[in-house]
This record gives sequence, C-alpha cells and structure tokens, in this order.
Amino acid sequence: MAFNWFKKKKDKTREQATGAPPIDDQNDETIPEPEAPVDGGMIEPEAPAAEGEDASPVAKEEAAPEVPPADDAPAEKKGKGLFARLKSGLSKTRKILTTDIDDLFLGKKLVDDDMLEELEELLITADMGVRTTMDIMERIAGKRSRIAGASQLKAVLKEEILAYFEALPAPAAEPAAKPHVVMVVGVNGVGKTTTIGKLAAHESRNGKKVLIAAADTFRAAAIEQMSIWAERAGAEIVRHKDHADPAAVAYDSVDAAVSRGTDIVFVDTAGRLHTKVNLMEEIKKIQRTLAKRLPDAPHEVLLVLDATTGQNALSQARMFNEALGVTGIALTKLDGTAKGGIVVSICSSLNIPLKYIGVGESVEDLQAFDPKQFVDALF
Ligand code: GDP
Ligand code: MG
Repeated sequence: MAFNWFKKKKDKTREQATGAPPIDDQNDETIPEPEAPVDGGMIEPEAPAAEGEDASPVAKEEAAPEVPPADDAPAEKKGKGLFARLKSGLSKTRKILTTDIDDLFLGKKLVDDDMLEELEELLITADMGVRTTMDIMERIAGKRSRIAGASQLKAVLKEEILAYFEALPAPAAEPAAKPHVVMVVGVNGVGKTTTIGKLAAHESRNGKKVLIAAADTFRAAAIEQMSIWAERAGAEIVRHKDHADPAAVAYDSVDAAVSRGTDIVFVDTAGRLHTKVNLMEEIKKIQRTLAKRLPDAPHEVLLVLDATTGQNALSQARMFNEALGVTGIALTKLDGTAKGGIVVSICSSLNIPLKYIGVGESVEDLQAFDPKQFVDALF
C-alpha cells in the first residue's frame, strides 16, 4: 500500500505496543495506571518532568520523538477493510460481550435472576459505567420473557446500545468555513498528536490542503513528533521554538492558512496537568487567539480521550467541556482494552458527539464513529 513513508524500524511487537501505557507524564496523577502494564512494552517512554523544571538527563537521552510506524498491523489486519480492522481492534471487548454472554446460557435456555446478575457484572467489566448498566439492565429485565438464548440476548443488548448512540446529537455538517480550524485538546498521552497525524493524512488523501499548528510547545520532542506526522501526511506545519507562546503559534498558523488558501487547520495543544488552572487558561487563551485572527475559529474543539483510562475519561470530558465547549470526541486505544463499553458510557453520559474512534496505530485505525458498524463489530 501507499504507506511506505510510515516505515520505521521497530523491534517491539504490536501487542506490546498496544498494551503500553500513555507515554508522557507517567507521573501525572490525573492519568490512572494502565490496566495491564507490560514490562519493556513501552515505546521509548519518557522520563517524567515536572512543569517548569528541566527534564531529567534520562528524558534528554530519550528526547527522540515517538511516532509509530503505520504498517505494523498484525497479519489478520493487514490488507483488510475498515470493518475488519474495527472488529480486530475491538476483539478484547467483544470477548466479554459475546463469549462471556454465550457462557451465561450454558445449560440454560431462559433468562433467570442469576443470569441477569452476571450480565450486569459483564457490562460493568466492559466499563459501560454503573448508571448506564443499571439503565440497560432495567430494560433487559422488562424484556426477559421474550429472550430465549444467548443470540436473542445479544440482539436485545445491541438494540439498547444503538438507542444510546442514536439519541446523541449528530456531529456538525461538513466544514463550511475555509480554513476550517480544529483545536485538538486532551490530557497528556491520550493520542492528540497521533490523532492529528492520522486526520491530516486522511484529509490530504482527500485532496484537502492541510496545515498543522505545533502549539504543544512545552517540549521540543512534541514539536518534532508533530513535524514528522505532518511530513508523512503531506501537511504543512507552523512551528516556533520550544517554550514559545502556544497562542502565538496558533495565531500564526491561522494567519498562514488564510493567506495560503488552506482548507483545514489542526491545532495541537499541550495536555499537561489538566487539573491545574494554568493549563486550562493556556488552552482558553489559544481558543481566544484563534478567534482574534479568524472570527468563529476554532470551528471545532476535538477532545481526545484514551479508552484505557475508563471512567476517568468522563471526568476529563466534563472538565474540558466546561472550559472550552467541546464539539466532538475522539476516543483512542480501543484496541488496547477490554473496556470498550466506555463508548456506550460516553454516549449515554455526555451530550457530545463521538466523532472518531481509534482501534490501532495506523492511519486506517482512526475511523469515523459509525454506531451501526460499531455494534455490528462488537457482537
Ligand atoms: P498526546 O500526548 O496526547 O499527543 O499523545 P500521542 O499522540 O503522543 O500518543 C501517545 C501514544 O498513544 C503513542 O504511542 C500513540 O502511538 C498511541 N496511540 C494513539 N492512538 C492510539 C490507538 O488508537 N491505539 C493504540 N494502540 N495506540 C494509540
Ligand atoms: Mg502530543
């Protein structure tokens, strides 16, 4: 395929890579422990550096930006269509929702109380959240007389989940403004830079002129990482020196986009310590500054959440939404978790459209969220 430009030597297995915890700021207490740390499985982890402090010597040694190759998909994914990639990415969650539900019916035909209790546990295990699980269970209990066998139970569950997705507001229509400015936010390590790289690649392939603002100026490596993605995606980049004012980078990027006739601008931002007021203030300043150069910009505020952080993602969403008014969510790393039920939890608890889901590290693994396909892949 056309991904030779993504080729990069990597000696770690994909399995290790996908099991890796967030790369940055592993000491950031706002990011919970990864569910299954793999020894040596991280790709070039960075030593944590507190805000305002110099990075440790280790961090300097490892300052090489981290950009995964795109074609390291496992054999069963390679050359397959988007749906197959989605299915493969959701396999851990699907095991809970299918194999384990099948097991509930072993030696039984009808739904009984024990079974409902076990099903409730499965949904919680898949991280659908307590409230959503209770809600779904109530409705399933009401339909129990009609359910005979695992496949009927799965069909009912599928319907219930789809109902949540359909109740959500639809993402805004195709961009009308040119340049269309998308500010990308989220805590460290969730996949902002990677998601921008993938989106930029998609847009470029569709013939759009793309520009990226490297407004995570906190570390030189972050700017470098964004630049590599931009080059691979065939996108332009506006970058300043590290520690430059991110709002100035954002302003210059829109300025350049206006004069160059760019179609779409992605603004990468820092994600350090989202509980600290100063980061939120910094991001709000970026948002205001974009509007100074181009009224109505940013047209989208895309919040990136990491599925492996489970319910914690919901509190991040509330916080960012309150500060910035989030217009859409990209949920990454669904391939690294059995807790894909977080998708249902997000859709049922937040009134924000889920726009994209990430089911792996290559460009094809960032997909537009399609509710029907998602439930079909899940069961
Ligand atoms: P940022 O700090 O928010 O900019 O996060 P990065 O874009 O640097 O991503 C952190 C790590 O997550 C990188 O190793 C990415 O390759 C990885 N990542 C991002 N999205 C996905 C995904 O959908 N699946 C997997 N397995 N890894 C992902
Ligand atoms: Mg980044």
